[in-house]
Amino acid sequence: STALVWLRRDLRLHDHAAFYHALKQHQRVIAVFIFDRPILEPLPRDDRRVAFIHASLAALQAELQRHGSDLVVRHDDARSAIPQLAAEFAAAAVYANRDYEPAAIARDDAVATALAAQGIAFHSSKDQVIFEQDEVLTQSGGMYSVFTPYKRAWLAKLNDFYVRPYPVSRYLDRLATLPAQTLPALAELGFADIDPAAQRIPAGIDGAEQLLADFLPRIERYQELRDFPARKGPSYLSVHLRFGTVSIRELAALAWRQGGAGAETWLSELIWREFYLQILWHRPEVAGHAFKPEYDALPFPNDPALFAAWCEGRTGYPLVDAAMRQLNQTGYMHNRLRMVTASFLVKDLLIDWRWGERYFAEKLIDFDLAANNGGWQWAASTGCDAQPYFRIFNPVSQSEKFDADGRFIKRYCPELAMLSGKDIHAPWLAKPLSLQAAGIVLGRDYPAPVVDHAVQRDKALALFKKN
Ligand code: FAD
Repeated sequence: STALVWLRRDLRLHDHAAFYHALKQHQRVIAVFIFDRPILEPLPRDDRRVAFIHASLAALQAELQRHGSDLVVRHDDARSAIPQLAAEFAAAAVYANRDYEPAAIARDDAVATALAAQGIAFHSSKDQVIFEQDEVLTQSGGMYSVFTPYKRAWLAKLNDFYVRPYPVSRYLDRLATLPAQTLPALAELGFADIDPAAQRIPAGIDGAEQLLADFLPRIERYQELRDFPARKGPSYLSVHLRFGTVSIRELAALAWRQGGAGAETWLSELIWREFYLQILWHRPEVAGHAFKPEYDALPFPNDPALFAAWCEGRTGYPLVDAAMRQLNQTGYMHNRLRMVTASFLVKDLLIDWRWGERYFAEKLIDFDLAANNGGWQWAASTGCDAQPYFRIFNPVSQSEKFDADGRFIKRYCPELAMLSGKDIHAPWLAKPLSLQAAGIVLGRDYPAPVVDHAVQRDKALALFKKN
C-alpha cells in the first residue's frame, strides 16, 4: 500500500520517526511538503525563514532523487491539500511528526478529520523532542512549572532507548518512484529570492552538520563562553532544531555521552526547550496571557515612540542597540542579548512583553512559539520560574560584564568604534573631550539615551508592586 509522509518542521530523511513508521508499514512511500498559504500569507516578503525552508527542501529533494524518488511540493492550504494529495496518490495513510503549537494542533486535527472521512488514517509520531508533555510529570501526575526539578526528572528518565536513531536507511528502497517534481521558486511563492548561504546561514542537513562539526570541539568551553556575544560560544543550531534539519536525538545523545561541564550545560539548554514546549502544551493560554495571572494586565504605558526606538536599535544604550541591529540584520540574536533586550523593553521602556514577543516572532529565524514565549515571560517576570520582578538588569553593567571591550557593540554600532574603555557602554557619561576625540555628537551620530535607567527602574518596581 501507499503512504504519504507529510513534512513540516522535520526537513530531513535520516533518524526521522514519521519516515521510519511509514516505510516500515507500506511498500510505497511519498514525501510531501505544503507551503501552507495560511502560514505564509501574513509573513513579510523578505522572510528569511521561508528562504531557509526553501533551501533545505531543495537539498532534501536532491537526496530523495538520489534514492530514486522525489519530493511532492504544493503551495496551498494544507487542510485541503493533504486530503487531496492522499486521494490523488490513493494513499492508505498519512504520517507526520507531531507539532505542539496550538495552531498546528488545530490544523492537524482538521486534516485528520478530513482524512478519516475519506477512510484514510492519520498517524502522528513524537520526533521533535526526547520527551513529550505527558512523559515527564510530577509525582502527582501534573506538569512541572519549575525548571530544576523538571530537568532532574528528565535526566533520570533518559536512557539509550530515547536517543536511539530511527534506522530509516534500511527501508529507503520503499520510497516511491515518481515523475520529476518541481520545487516552486521563492518568487513564485511570492517571496524575495534570498540565499541563506549568502547571509551566512547554512541551510539543510549539510548546514546543520557543518555547524555541529564546528561546535563539538568547542562544547567543553560552552559554559565558559556562552554568555559573551562577541565570542563564538553557542552552537547556532536553533534554526536547525526549529526546522528539523538536525535530529534532537543525535544532539541529546552527543551531549549526554560526552559529559563534562560544557556538554552538561548545553544539554540543559536542550531541556529548557522541552520544558517550555510542555508548558505551552499544558497551558496553551500562555500564548497571549501571563503564566502568572496576577501579572496579566499590568498597566504598562506602552509608548509607541520608545517601542520604535527599541525595534530599530536607537535607544542610546549601546548593547541594546547592537543586539537589536544584530536581530534586524541577521535574524539571530545571542541568548544573553535576548534576555537583556527583553528586560530593557519591559522594565526600562515599560512596554508590554507581548509587543516584544511579537517583534521577535516576526524577525527571529529560529522563532519558536514555546521558547520565545517562555523567554519573554521569563524576562518580564510574568512566567513560570521567571526572573523575580525586582531583579532588573542594569543595561550598562550587563554591557560591562558581557561585552567588556565593546567588541560586539562595535560590530553593530560602528559609529561608536572610536570610543574607548568604559565610554562605549554609556556614551552619555563620557567626558566631552572623549566624545569629541571619537568624533561623536550625541543626538547626531548616536542617540542620547531615550530613558534614564534609574528612574525607569523605580517606575517598573512600582508597576509590579501595585499588583
Ligand atoms: P545554544 O546555546 O547552542 O543552545 C542549544 C539549543 O538549546 C538552542 O538551539 C535551542 O534549541 C535550545 N535552547 C537554548 N536556550 C534555550 C532557552 N532559553 N529556551 C528554550 N530553548 C533553548 N529560542 C528559540 O529557539 N526560538 C525562539 O524564538 C527563542 N526566543 C527567545 C526569546 C527570549 C526573550 C529569550 C530570552 C530566549 C529565546 N530563545 C529562543 C532561547 C535562546 O535564546 C535561543 O534558543 C538561543 O539563543 C539559540 O542559539 P543557539 O542555537 O546558538 O543556542
